[in-house]
Amino acid sequence: MSEEVFITHNESETRDAGRRLAATLPPGATIALVGDLGAGKTVFVRGLAEGLGLAPDDVSSPTFTLIQEYRGAGRTLHHADLYRISSREADDLGLEELTAEGAIVAIEWAEKLPRDVPGATTIQIEDLGGTERRITISRGAG
Ligand code: ADP
Ligand code: MG
Repeated sequence: MSEEVFITHNESETRDAGRRLAATLPPGATIALVGDLGAGKTVFVRGLAEGLGLAPDDVSSPTFTLIQEYRGAGRTLHHADLYRISSREADDLGLEELTAEGAIVAIEWAEKLPRDVPGATTIQIEDLGGTERRITISRGAG
């Protein structure tokens, strides 16, 4: 388990952090995003998509579709948002299975999942006021 903590001062820095993380991800990685509404989870995922070579401007909060899929250049990103559903419904989505073919899965409101995803990288984003955000990246073992 390793942890990295830093502060971003604007939206583009958070997006850059997502892009940098993308470069380090093995196929089939799960990214669990935790933080309040407006913290910057979707912004981070936009950077992640960009880092994976996928069209980042398409990335919006999949609040109503639950899971959006982006494909390109041999990489696939599944982007889920559990905000509006119960823990039980979140469990039923089968998000872990989506990583089976090497796709990356990014989950907003991951704290709704009834148990931790093994080996997931957790991104916690805290609003420090104004446009400052504290980002904590924890990489699970395995
Ligand atoms: P979430 O998905 O966590 O609900 P969004 O990513 O949709 O949040 O929105 C974050 C909002 O906060 C955007 O309007 C963005 O412009 C703004 N913002 C301000 N400062 C930052 C920052 N440092 N990092 C990310 N977003 C920021
Ligand atoms: Mg969002």
